Amino acid sequence: MTRRKLIAGNWKMNGDLASLAELGGIAIAAQNAPGIDVAIAVPATLIAPAIAAAPGLSIGAQDVHWSAKGAHTGCISVAMIAEAKAEFSIIGHSERRADNGETDAQVKSKAEALHAGGLDAILCVGETLDERDAGQAVAVVTGQLAASVPEGAAADWLSIAYEPVWAIGTGRTPTVSDVAAMHEAIRTKLRELIGAEADAMRLLYGGSVTGDNATELLGASDVDGALVGGASLTAAKFVPIVEAGA
Ligand code: PGA
Repeated sequence: MTRRKLIAGNWKMNGDLASLAELGGIAIAAQNAPGIDVAIAVPATLIAPAIAAAPGLSIGAQDVHWSAKGAHTGCISVAMIAEAKAEFSIIGHSERRADNGETDAQVKSKAEALHAGGLDAILCVGETLDERDAGQAVAVVTGQLAASVPEGAAADWLSIAYEPVWAIGTGRTPTVSDVAAMHEAIRTKLRELIGAEADAMRLLYGGSVTGDNATELLGASDVDGALVGGASLTAAKFVPIVEAGA
């Protein structure tokens, strides 16, 4: 099964109006790579200006609430990001799980809300270093999937990002064979959860992806793209990753 690669950036709590200038070069790289998808998740306040700055580039959010509206101070709904013309949202990022106590059940509700609103989702899973050292990595990740992938989820709106927590922002990455082994375990679990649709679903790797290691990591079997934090903040760093995926 050939799956179209997705190279997605995650600006986290970085960026301002001036930094949207970086999107120009990223949009050109995306145009030059018609065989893959390129997307950037920006802070919510930058969604509309990012789309104005780089029409044609897929812009998304980094989180949404699962409720349609109501008494959830500080939160943003699917309809709100859709109105701003976001095409997708990241959900279940380990930083949100750590900072905001986000649970798998909430992540599942967020995925369902995004799909109901016609948007795509990138659902993040990943183990901590303690969990890996304890030999629990596969159990943790497959447990997260079992509790957060909605029944009947389809590859045309949901992608999974495997992001080992210890590799995020640290400059450390798992070996290519560790990534391939985890992605194989993820796909096997997805087959159990959603059947044959699992073979069409994109599995991204995330955690310290750079222009220097992207070719190697994207070449691992069952890796269908990357979720990139720090190296997505400038065109100079992100474009080589897009080119590695093309
Ligand atoms: P990083 O972040 O590329 O800066 O390690 C990845 C992520 O958290 O999505």
